[in-house]
Parts: sequence; structure tokens; C-alpha cells
Amino acid sequence: MNQPIPAERLRPMLEPCYGHLAGHQQAGGGAGRGPGGPPYTARQNRAPARRVHGTVVSDNSMRPELFVAAILIAAGCPVAAQTGKAGDDRSAIQQYLKHPGFTWQCQRSGHFEFCYDPKIGTDPNLLAVRKGAEKARTHILRLAAAPRYQPLIHVFFLESRARMKELIGYDGEGRARPTHHVIFFVPTPVRPDLTHELCHEILSNLWGAAEPWIEEGLATYAAQGGFHHESQEWLASGRMLPLENLVNPGWDPTQYTPDITYGELADFVEYLKNTYGLDSIRKVWLAGSLAISAVLGKPLKELEADWHAALLPE
Ligand SMILES: [Zn+2]
Repeated sequence: MNQPIPAERLRPMLEPCYGHLAGHQQAGGGAGRGPGGPPYTARQNRAPARRVHGTVVSDNSMRPELFVAAILIAAGCPVAAQTGKAGDDRSAIQQYLKHPGFTWQCQRSGHFEFCYDPKIGTDPNLLAVRKGAEKARTHILRLAAAPRYQPLIHVFFLESRARMKELIGYDGEGRARPTHHVIFFVPTPVRPDLTHELCHEILSNLWGAAEPWIEEGLATYAAQGGFHHESQEWLASGRMLPLENLVNPGWDPTQYTPDITYGELADFVEYLKNTYGLDSIRKVWLAGSLAISAVLGKPLKELEADWHAALLPE
């Protein structure tokens, strides 16, 4: 049996969804994925990418049950695919419900509670998100091969990024707060779909906290599908970032343009999933990038070379 992973390796539960391009596929052809630009462009001096779905706020307390689950998984022990308690625990969301300047109308529906200002209750994008929520949840459970997920998921709809920032201090269109089972979402025509945020919500609770690169890579893959073609183009044009810049414990999603990083990570995670299987993804998720070589039997550089070779046209 493996040694339990040290406590410092059990990262605090993030509120993932750092910020990612939401224009893939649904945007009708590359919104936000502007061509050109020098290789490995840092974002600091660039205009913000269009349609960035952001999400992450750190929470420095890992729930005790997740800590235990993480140790059990790391030790190769089976752990119930359920770490949240059932029922409607509203105590965690009172801070949002009672936030000054916001009026909420909340409705339970299946595995969700949707809260929104009554004046946007009939917004067609909001209605589309609600309509697709159960399907998106099922998609993530299937992806994770999880038989069940009990927690009620609270979804707060905001009418704008500005209102999102007012409520939680984050300027973005989507953010998951897995410790509270809460998703904040600005419904737009670009991505009227909770799949990305639900990937953070569900897998962070079932598997434990993960490093940003795999959180965002898997969520982007789950929500937006393959980036194989884009990755081929980025590789051919020299715009692909070296994986070591992203696949590390400290990648800051604002460091490089999300136009490339989210898609690149999604394609790499998909490659790992297809080559090594979901269980290996889960082990890397929990153990972190520094354990990739031990888990997959190859260092990152070698995996990168294999992946690039697979990207080359036939
Ligand atoms: Zn995300």
C-alpha cells in the first residue's frame, strides 16, 4: 500500500475556474481566440480575453472529510463516492442571500437550487442553463464514473460580471465554490451551460482539491470537448506553451492568455485520459503534477513529446 501523501500536498480546496475561454464551439467560430501574437505571450499587457469565464477564490480550509478521503484514495483504499452530506444546508449560502444590494428568488429543482434576481428570471439564457443543468450534472458523473452525488448545488445567477464582482469580489462569468456547493454564473449566449463549473463542483468534492492545471484542463475538456485541431495549429505555429509552464503546482491562469492555455490543457488532459485511463487522471488529480512520473511512469517532458507526436498530422 502506498504511503499517505503528506499534508502539505493536500492543497486547500480552491474555488476553481480561474478564467477560461468560453468561446470554443458554442461561439460560432473562435470568439476570443484571436490569431497571431508572439509565442508564449504573457497576458499582463494584453487586453483581457473576450468571454473569459473566471473562477477561483482560495479557501484555506480543507474540509476534514475531504482530507480523510484524500488520504484514503492516496493509500489506494476505496472511499465512498460521496463526501458531502445530503439535504439542504443553507447556512453556507446565507452570506450571499443576505448580501446588501441583492434580491433573490430561489427555486429548488431536482439536484439544484437556482437563485436569481426576479427581474432576470425569464432571461432566455438563464432558462437555458436551468433546462440543461441536470444533463450537465449527469455528464460529469458519467465522466467521473461516479454512481451518485448527493449535495444540493446552489446556483446564483448574476446579471453581469460587475454584479458577480459585487457579490463575491470576482470579475468573471463563472465561478465554482465547491466547499459551499455554490456556483456563480452570468448566463450569456456564448455558454448557457453549467458543465464547466459542475466539473469543479463535483470532482473537487468527490476526488479532493487539485492543482489548477488539471482542474481547468478537465473542466474545459468536459464542457467544450476536444481541442485537438486547435492544439495542432498551436503546435505548428509555435504558440503552444511548454507544458512545464502550466503543469505545475503554481500555475496562475492569468499568467498567459487563456485563449490557448485552457484549450491546451484540455487537450493534454484528454490525451492522458485516453492513453492512461480515468483512474490515472484521478491519481494525478490527487497527487499533483510533481507525482506525474511516479503515477504515469514517465516524466512530464516525455509525456509532452508523446502528446505532440500524437498531434502531428497522419
Ligand atoms: Zn474553470
